[in-house]
Amino acid sequence: MTGAPQLLDGKRCGDTLKAEIAKGAAAVRLQRGRAPHLAAVLVGSDGASRTYVEAKVKACEAVGFRSTLIRLPETITEEELLSRVHGLNEDHELDGFIVQLPLPPHVDADRITQAIDPKKDVDGFHPVNVGNMVLGLPGFLPATPSGICELLKFYHVETAGKHCVVVGRSNIVGTPISILLSRNAYPGNCTVTLAHSRTKDLPSVTRKADILVVAIGKPEFVTAGMVKEGAVVVDVGIHRIPDASKKAGFRLVGDTAFAEVAPRSSAITPVPGGVGPMTITSLLLNTLKAAR
Ligand code: NDP
Repeated sequence: MTGAPQLLDGKRCGDTLKAEIAKGAAAVRLQRGRAPHLAAVLVGSDGASRTYVEAKVKACEAVGFRSTLIRLPETITEEELLSRVHGLNEDHELDGFIVQLPLPPHVDADRITQAIDPKKDVDGFHPVNVGNMVLGLPGFLPATPSGICELLKFYHVETAGKHCVVVGRSNIVGTPISILLSRNAYPGNCTVTLAHSRTKDLPSVTRKADILVVAIGKPEFVTAGMVKEGAVVVDVGIHRIPDASKKAGFRLVGDTAFAEVAPRSSAITPVPGGVGPMTITSLLLNTLKAAR
């Protein structure tokens, strides 16, 4: 590509949307006498999960939401956790809540997700909300894919008629973004290919993408040779790589080798500061919607 790629800055986009969310929160406070209220359930002490949950709680405070962090021990039984979820479903002071994944192996995450009242499921993982998304009905969209759509909208990325390749088919990222980008809407109207670990000759598939969404959970997996000249690249992955030159002892990288892929792309999300902040912003948008 000639010239630097457009950086799809999730922090900038997120901050703009958060200013609107803060206005919405103030209106809810006036109308209902209380702020929108999100609860986050954190089971165990996994470092990455704690960081994500704490960032979500902090983001709530920044836009004038109330937030409650519920820390539960790693040893909690599935029945005890279900009972906590039922309690949160019944709590009229609460607009929405999330149960941070992953859960310990002895807890069936699907059973927990399905126990959440779809009207409070601001993560958008409940089968009712997934079904509504597929059918284009109102409901809560999953936070990361919906954040990607907001980012594409913010930067006026053209999507209609484009060939979008999504790499990764998880229920929380790959599959839902493939559905959203194939909808008859903006962003959408893409011709979508959904690739996964059984895809043959992945580089030949990704090289056909006008829009490449990467969500595979492997650090710097996508290299320049896998990307078409001028593609829009959305990198969902986030990994801590040990790096003695950093004060923290690590640096963050995505699923894409940014330094070599960026020069080939017309637009690209950085890691950190791309999709990550948009996931949190979408969660706030869903919570505001629940409160309204
Ligand atoms: P999962 O591990 O649930 O899914 C990974 C997907 O990638 C699977 O569908 C898998 O295929 C596919 N895959 C794995 N290896 C290959 C390969 N070599 N070639 C092609 N496909 C492959 O991951 P998630 O979707 O939950 O997350 C993906 C990444 O995004 C992670 O780094 C995660 O940390 C990050 N993430 C970031 C968020 C953010 O806010 N920035 C939010 C959520 C996730 P198969 O199905 O065949 O196994």
